[in-house]
Amino acid sequence: MSFALHGVGVSGGIAIGRAHLASHAALEVAHHVVPENQVSNEILRLDTAITAVREELETLHSCVVSGPAAAEYGAFLDLHQMILDDPTLSAAAKTYIAQNQCNAEWAITQQMDVLMAQFEEIEDSYLRERKTDVIQVVERVLKVLLGHPGYIPAPPKRDGDSILVAHDLSPADVIQYKQQSFNAFLTDLGGLTSHTAIVARSLNIPSIVALHHARRLIRDNDILIIDGSQGVAIVDPDEHVLSEYRLRHSQLELEKQKLKRIKTTVAATLDGTTVELHANIELPPDVEQVKENGATGIGLFRSEFLFLNRDSLPDEDEQFEAYRNVARKMRGLPVTIRTFDLGADKNLDPTKRVASNPALGLRAIRLCLAEPQMFHTQLRAILRASHYGQIRILVPMLSSVSEITQTMHFIENAKQSLRGEKIPFDEKIQIGGMIEIPAAALCLDVFMRKLDFLSIGTNDLIQYTLAIDRADDSVAYLYDSLHPAVLRLVAHIIRSANRTGTPVAVCGEIAGDVIFTRLLLGFGLRLFSMHPAQLLTVKREVLRSNMPNIIPLVQKILKADDPEKIHVLLAKLNS
Ligand code: PEP
Ligand code: MG
Repeated sequence: MSFALHGVGVSGGIAIGRAHLASHAALEVAHHVVPENQVSNEILRLDTAITAVREELETLHSCVVSGPAAAEYGAFLDLHQMILDDPTLSAAAKTYIAQNQCNAEWAITQQMDVLMAQFEEIEDSYLRERKTDVIQVVERVLKVLLGHPGYIPAPPKRDGDSILVAHDLSPADVIQYKQQSFNAFLTDLGGLTSHTAIVARSLNIPSIVALHHARRLIRDNDILIIDGSQGVAIVDPDEHVLSEYRLRHSQLELEKQKLKRIKTTVAATLDGTTVELHANIELPPDVEQVKENGATGIGLFRSEFLFLNRDSLPDEDEQFEAYRNVARKMRGLPVTIRTFDLGADKNLDPTKRVASNPALGLRAIRLCLAEPQMFHTQLRAILRASHYGQIRILVPMLSSVSEITQTMHFIENAKQSLRGEKIPFDEKIQIGGMIEIPAAALCLDVFMRKLDFLSIGTNDLIQYTLAIDRADDSVAYLYDSLHPAVLRLVAHIIRSANRTGTPVAVCGEIAGDVIFTRLLLGFGLRLFSMHPAQLLTVKREVLRSNMPNIIPLVQKILKADDPEKIHVLLAKLNS
């Protein structure tokens, strides 16, 4: 039966393919068909692993000593024992192997999904959240099956027409999927500017988040049509709908090809106002896409992605190689490296307990300053790489002058250590700050005095101005980039920076959203940084724009406080 699901489109385009249901990404395991004569062997492997986990849990139980915390821990182990022995999990997984002739790892994760779906139906939110315990139990079984206690299996290789359907994906998960050839992503959770959405966008494939029930309603191998611009997923479409979308898909491909013609055209408006279009990257290989789309620099290298999906931190040499590699490939064009913005939804250890308000916690520069050795190592690596290109340092999430002072102190220390070792670096390296907290936007003068350049992180600026968690799909409808408060704040930052001659960029997602191009031009923005895939569309919009027409309408938008009026004026601006 054909049906459609609606969510938030985070990356445009049309994809047609077959569903690949992802388990909790850490539990992604390969699916093998096993010969009939090996089915009993797979059942035995599963049985042995379950017995081993049962013994493990019993041993843990016997170690529990008295006291209230012990009672809680004991109850938790009992629950895990119950889940392990639940026939829906263990017995059904064995039946699944027999019926589907598959490997034990695949069978147990499939049954885990059945159990998870049952938990989803429970009204009591406490019980519903016990899904996490199901995942943990299955993780234990998988570790025994795979024979590597600390090993997280990599996602399996897919065909080019697979569409990944997941309940939720962390940014680290999505980065792992970068090497896979999926042609679209669907998730139940997530917001428009969550890091998961941002990374999915960087893959340049249609993606939809906040679908709520996709993981439950879609079955493995279902045929899907994904319309990333509209945020619609059509499940099991009929032939008529399929051929209509095939046609739209080829039209979009044609348009993409046409856009390539303006790759080397200078980005200037009709009246001759020139604009720099830089790119945002997560990992060094992304530079290929940067060059393919003719970016004139890298405005944001989210360096923290070098630290994810691994057991140990990258050392100074490894980081140095990564930064130098990017600098060299950019051949003298600016490369803005943001110091690691870890914390919140980008955790080094995803199993670690996070703060109750992670977006307001130990994140970005706060974490850099709290981890002096890690920060020092990164600063030395960036400085060393600065000898090989035009590297700039960008500091995330600044909120106070004291953070700038401390950061400068760290940078000076790193410089001093390199001087001592006679290692060359750019003595005049530029240091900029991200303006993504309203406090910084409202006290901009001091930030402009102390920093060489500014970059507006609108993804966070919107989250902190409107008090909306950008990763939470339940409040995604309130995440309004066109809220008058947001527009006024962004315009204020750009105008103040222009007045004092401080270079300013926008590197949040609105810089790559063509709806905002004229608005930002009207605010006075001349440096945009976005995902490479969005660059040529934004350039085309710049080429079609005329500042004398833009400015009066933008003034009106800034004065308006009625959202409906803002939308009407914006439509006029973009017509
Ligand atoms: C931002 O906040 O707008 C930004 C560019 O940084 P990130 O999305 O990585 O938080
Ligand atoms: Mg940010």
